[in-house]
Amino acid sequence: MVREVMARMERFPQKEQGGIFQNMEDAIMAAKKAQNIMQKMPMDFREKIICHIRKKTREEGELLARMGVEETGMGNVGDKTLKHLLLADKTPGTEAITTKAWSGDRGLTLTERGPFGVIGAITPCTNPSETVLCNSIGMIAGGNTVVFCPHPQAVQVSNYAVQLVNQASIEVGGPENIVVSLHNPTMETSSYMMKHKDIPLIVATGGPLVVTAVLSSGKRGIGAGAGNPPVLVDETADIKKAAIDIINGCTFDNNLPCIAEKEVVALEQITDELIYYMKENGGFFISNEELERLTSLVMTKKVLNRSCVGRDAKTLLSMIGVKAPEETRCILFEGPKEHPLIAEELMMPILGIVRARDIEDAICQAVWLEHGNRHSAHMHSRNVENLTRFGKAIDTAIFVKNAPSYAALGFGGEGFCTFTIASRTGEGLTCASTFTKSRRCVMADSLCIR
Ligand code: NAD
Repeated sequence: MVREVMARMERFPQKEQGGIFQNMEDAIMAAKKAQNIMQKMPMDFREKIICHIRKKTREEGELLARMGVEETGMGNVGDKTLKHLLLADKTPGTEAITTKAWSGDRGLTLTERGPFGVIGAITPCTNPSETVLCNSIGMIAGGNTVVFCPHPQAVQVSNYAVQLVNQASIEVGGPENIVVSLHNPTMETSSYMMKHKDIPLIVATGGPLVVTAVLSSGKRGIGAGAGNPPVLVDETADIKKAAIDIINGCTFDNNLPCIAEKEVVALEQITDELIYYMKENGGFFISNEELERLTSLVMTKKVLNRSCVGRDAKTLLSMIGVKAPEETRCILFEGPKEHPLIAEELMMPILGIVRARDIEDAICQAVWLEHGNRHSAHMHSRNVENLTRFGKAIDTAIFVKNAPSYAALGFGGEGFCTFTIASRTGEGLTCASTFTKSRRCVMADSLCIR
């Protein structure tokens, strides 16, 4: 795989290899130069570059998926390939940048969306190339160029995606270095980027530490932080469908998406039936003794064991000496909401199930489990009142009803795709318009022809 990738990298003869630099200052300067060119380009030309990025993402989605799994040891190639196809098809481009107009006796006023300039984007190891490509489409559509700081555990695949974007630009006659990155990104280089005078906006996709770092930078920051999405099932739900949807959502890319079902809160009277159908659909219910061993493995000394993140259920079970049946997709157990494998965001296909007395109790427990992240929550119910009550109480950027969590990304649901969900700072699902600033243009006493 590495040899295959190196061969593809040689398509960039220049020493910085398609936007990958040795030091941050050079990277920022190159992105600034590209942005000066970009600013003068017609919107149509931005769209032409974006179309080509989409095409290349479709063509190389599977390779990127294989690289991501190989480099990070997380997720699975089939689902990661689907994620690349999804972002290629459903990430909004320039059409998301709209103008508002007021016209009347005193003339014409427009509010237009303009670029910030060079955006600094910090990306995670859980969706590495997906985030780089999705951010690139939205940020370029807004007229910006981007300095990426990829997660050190996913540098190769993230930088390969950066090169792909530059290649797309160059092939249609656009500038080089519309997105840039470093050969060896570190905390120090991220910190240099965050303080740089030529970076007016920082977008962080990752856990709580990076979002806090960005929000403390003194710059405008968009913080797409951690979640711990509960899925609530009440007695009115189609229980069999709920079980299938929950297993499908929870196991997608081995539970890496931040939106994926991380624990279940079920009403007492339907919990046994729900577990029955979950077991029929690849759920493997573990014993108390196995749960103890799994807890020691996954939360070693109460800290998340990162070598378990993004692993599939059978691998996790084999790590505690359990040989699971071939069809196993998800590990199930019952427990109180405070159990560490329920309360913590794990990002692996382990679903703790919490019983609730009634809908009040269920809502209360699910809200507690979301920890005020205001990120994602899901529910299976046919009772509109219950759905409304939970939606209001949990107050998350994403609330999926009667579907797997990935419907929120436009996969089996309506709406656009993004891999940067700004939960902490409130922008919600980001797209091109999120990466633009507002500008009012006024023509007094003319141009109104009503
Ligand atoms: P992570 O926080 O370990 O790393 C994310 C990025 O931040 C990396 O590039 C890392 O190098 C950088 N980073 C970390 N701490 C930093 C600091 N103090 N200063 C500067 N940079 C820093 O996260 P991860 O393991 O790569 O991704 C998983 C986490 O991200 C989960 O919590 C998940 O919920 C969250 N996530 C959120 C979204 C969203 O859209 N809200 C999307 C994907 C992942």
